[in-house]
Amino acid sequence: MAKRDYYEVLGVPKTASQDEIKSAYRKLARQYHPDLNKENPKAAEEKFKELSEAYEVLIDTDKRRHYDNMGFAGVQQDFGPGGFTWQNFHHTGDLQDILGQDIFNQFFRQQGGGSIFDLLGGTYGPRQAQRGRDLEATLAIDLADVVEGVTKEIELTRREACPRCNGTGAEKGTKVERCPECEGAGQVHRTVQRGYTRMITIIECPTCEGTGKKIFKKCLDCGGSGEVRKVRRISLRIPPGVEDGTLLRLGGEGERGPGGRVGNLYVRIEVREDARFRRDGRTLYSELTLELGQALLGDKVKIPTLGGHALLTVPPGTQPEAILRLRGEGLPAQGGGNRGDYLVKVHVHLPESLNDPQKEAVKGLFGGSSAGDDSSWRSSLFGRKRS
Ligand SMILES: [Zn+2]
Ligand SMILES: [Zn+2]
Repeated sequence: MAKRDYYEVLGVPKTASQDEIKSAYRKLARQYHPDLNKENPKAAEEKFKELSEAYEVLIDTDKRRHYDNMGFAGVQQDFGPGGFTWQNFHHTGDLQDILGQDIFNQFFRQQGGGSIFDLLGGTYGPRQAQRGRDLEATLAIDLADVVEGVTKEIELTRREACPRCNGTGAEKGTKVERCPECEGAGQVHRTVQRGYTRMITIIECPTCEGTGKKIFKKCLDCGGSGEVRKVRRISLRIPPGVEDGTLLRLGGEGERGPGGRVGNLYVRIEVREDARFRRDGRTLYSELTLELGQALLGDKVKIPTLGGHALLTVPPGTQPEAILRLRGEGLPAQGGGNRGDYLVKVHVHLPESLNDPQKEAVKGLFGGSSAGDDSSWRSSLFGRKRS
């Protein structure tokens, strides 16, 4: 397949500005989002790669100049003998925006290697200088809250855009220009030759500290950083059926990065232990000790459930170690649905000592007489062993 002209791929004129190139890339890349191209993921991926290669070249002034002057040959040395690969792509931040973090990770996992960091980290250094830090929090809920799910609030302190300057860092009414060193990217490339390996490191632009902007007068509130620390209460809906240790991701609730891009908030759900129950997925377990009479004659016993109490029917002749079942009193699966069962394991308590009338009653129970010969109750009691 003949390689298409990079400008043609992105559908922009040769005179396109960086902003035009960027928005063309974003618009086209979104069309080939893997979620929208489930029928033909391979073709979408190819298209994605083609777009990204064109973008990689045209957004970089040096590469663009080489390409303009010499065509594909002008950028060949940038990509190595195999041509463009994802290792050559320097704008993963844009991809994260377009794809969303989850798809992004998945996408790059498919490209070989593990996560984006495995793939790019070794040779190319951190790529997320622009994105704000992810925040982590832990939230404990009661086992009973797992049944219906629950809404909770967490409080955290995080860096946010300064409201006075809208995160630009510039005092109201003063000029802001694109940083001349990084041309607004917030990052600069440093190329180092090590033996045969040409290594490119991406670093935060030292001139603008990653903001991509040149400021003439700093904002009086934030001193030019564009950010302030804020205490926030975040309301969080925890779905039914969560397991202990589940991680919930709240996109865009993390910290603001120097370039204005916000990280994610990860909340680890801790389901508190409840001494009355044991949980295994959808099934709830507990144990119950019956008195001998209850086991022999049957009973209705009030037992604790996640919602309060229930009456458990103990059938007559219930054996030790029997499992009694309360249907639908367990937990829903992660995300909801029908509740599992509640299983109650039965123990039977035998009296340690009996008074005389009780002894007579037991003998009577098993067919013996109270007078003299007491072999009959024994044979009845152990009747299955003796003929
Ligand atoms: Zn400010
Ligand atoms: Zn800069």
